[in-house]
Amino acid sequence: MLLQRITPALLAAPLLAACGGSTAEARPLGVVLLTCDTLRADRLGLYGWQAGTSPRLDALARESIVYEDAWSTAPLTGPALSALLTGRLPEDLGLGDNRTVLAAEAETLAERLAAHGVETAAVVSNWVLRRRPELGDAGVQQGFAHFDDALPESEPSRPDVKERLADATTDAALAWLDGRSGARPFLLWVHYQDPHGPYTPPREMLGDIATAADEPELPVGPDERGQGALPRYQVVDGERRASVYRARYEAEIRFFDRELGRLLDGLRARGLLERVLIAFTADHGESMGERGYYFSHGRHLHRELVQVPLLLRPPGGAAPPRRERVPVSHLDLYPTVLRLFGLEPGTTHGVDLLAAAPPADRILPHSLRGTLAATGSHHRLLVGPEGPELYDRQTDPGEEHDLAALHPELVQALLDGHQAFTARKPGAPLRPAEPVLDEEARRAMDALGYGGEDGH
Ligand SMILES: [Zn+2]
Repeated sequence: MLLQRITPALLAAPLLAACGGSTAEARPLGVVLLTCDTLRADRLGLYGWQAGTSPRLDALARESIVYEDAWSTAPLTGPALSALLTGRLPEDLGLGDNRTVLAAEAETLAERLAAHGVETAAVVSNWVLRRRPELGDAGVQQGFAHFDDALPESEPSRPDVKERLADATTDAALAWLDGRSGARPFLLWVHYQDPHGPYTPPREMLGDIATAADEPELPVGPDERGQGALPRYQVVDGERRASVYRARYEAEIRFFDRELGRLLDGLRARGLLERVLIAFTADHGESMGERGYYFSHGRHLHRELVQVPLLLRPPGGAAPPRRERVPVSHLDLYPTVLRLFGLEPGTTHGVDLLAAAPPADRILPHSLRGTLAATGSHHRLLVGPEGPELYDRQTDPGEEHDLAALHPELVQALLDGHQAFTARKPGAPLRPAEPVLDEEARRAMDALGYGGEDGH
């Protein structure tokens, strides 16, 4: 197919139209997609948390559209971010865990934009997102002309698992901004890793941790799973009190937030902040001990693992800050970004969030290894091997009182809504790229915690 190239001048018109107009000086120039790993929405000030975890994000929220009811499609890094970057459901991409990798046949947001002359760059700091040369063109790097997956650090308790800390992540993003030509519109994706375990924030982020003298100690689990016990890789200094790990998790958020703020300052200093769309979200949440599941994710589809922060700061600050309560999904970012660049998404699961509010009666899907969940405005449905579970979001936000037996009609309505959403296919189902592992390598991955319920 002959790919039509469009110029920055042509791009500016739809960008401006989407944002309600602006001055020539504030001509929109691109999109900065910021994602953070393992970040619960409810631990951020902008969603009501009072512990001072996110002053910079809170300030950004005051200039943005804040989505109060935003959801990931899956509680694992690879499936969730592959879905975000393609606008397709993890199950349609064939992605059930972090061992599978986005197929080369997938058409990503970056590929579509690059084909139309947009400069594309990514800085990712999670081991799961690294480029995999042994898998050919498979992976989330598809379409990014610049893909920086330098991971100079080792996780403290898993030396084979590499990562990059927030300060180095921001440095890498700023370095790319300084090296770009400046003439073309751009997409920059930056993925921060820090709130992911093990929770080892810089000392100055930790402060004093208040603990109760009689707090019981958790057992240390035999593996990385965290059900009824601390995941092995999370244990720091032999500590076994949950409250200490909760404080450490918040300190990781504080560190990430400081460095995110430094990137925003860098955009402002370079005259870019008012000329780009800032989109911010997390790939998934983290369990803080709900349901006896400690400091991990990837085990189930309850709220704490799939509800995420999401905000959009339009170019030029043209849209007045506001808060939206309708359910929105990572899948909405694909059409939103494409339309901002003047491109049509085609058949899509998502809604262009800058053009119209999604319908309030929307049912959003989530999936994990053959189980599914559906989120509506009033109820959530989880369907696993033991059958359906139904929760009232208003009276039971913690999802502790299963109403499925009492309200089979609501179970059916949510299943119907889930079916209606997922039936609209943007493309044929894909088979994931999968590393060819011999049995020994597979066992080694499982031991590291990357086989299935891996918390990454
Ligand atoms: Zn993740």
